[in-house]
Amino acid sequence: MNTIAQQLQLVHDRIAGAAARCGRPAADVGLLAVSKTKPAADVAAAYAAGQRQFGENYVQEAVDKIKALRTTCPDIRWHLIGPLQSNKSRLVAEHFDWVHTVDRLKIAQRLSDQRPVHMRPLNICLQVNVSGEASKSGLAPAEVAALAERVDVLPGLCLRGLMTIPEATDDPEILRSQLLELKQLFDRMAEKYPRLDTLSMGMSNDLELAVACGSTLVRVGTAIFGSRNP
Ligand SMILES: *Cc1c(COP(=O)(O)O)cnc(C)c1O
Repeated sequence: MNTIAQQLQLVHDRIAGAAARCGRPAADVGLLAVSKTKPAADVAAAYAAGQRQFGENYVQEAVDKIKALRTTCPDIRWHLIGPLQSNKSRLVAEHFDWVHTVDRLKIAQRLSDQRPVHMRPLNICLQVNVSGEASKSGLAPAEVAALAERVDVLPGLCLRGLMTIPEATDDPEILRSQLLELKQLFDRMAEKYPRLDTLSMGMSNDLELAVACGSTLVRVGTAIFGSRNP
């Protein structure tokens, strides 16, 4: 079994290889280490190896880790990548740097209202459902422009980009078409909002494809921290 530092290096190598194959600078693709269900000690190990951006899915679990690591790992950027219920929005507004899963105006307004004034605005990605699966959260692509317009003016938030979780399929062509659809939508939105710089897509199994389709931030859990217990 490799150490977390070794696994991290392998993921950086995969990102660099994928970027090189499509002529992109590797520095254009960030790595979000997804530490959900993993102990704070694993986050600290990745931090010691240079990792600074971490993604979490469960608000209370994340807040416990954020508090535990506040003094030893002070410059971690915490990203919420799991679904967000209104009753947890205050905890999120007070503890996170980013939320990738905004898909309703009501949640965006609550996050903006609840963001403490002494903190920088909360960075936001709108989650888009590119597969059209009814069970999935996220906006339909056609709804993105209208929500972006409303979110862009909220003072506690900073709209940074789009995020998606494509269909769970092994068919690379289906995946590619869904990832490219998000990339095209992102490019159209970035013309209107030049501040948008984050296209959050790609996970352990599909990060090369996501990089080839324009991802600027891959979210990788298993390939860094090992498999998760269900
Ligand atoms: C768990 C999770 C990931 C990481 O998935 P791996 O397959 O473990 O790399 C990425 N994005 C989201 C939204 C997740 O929930």
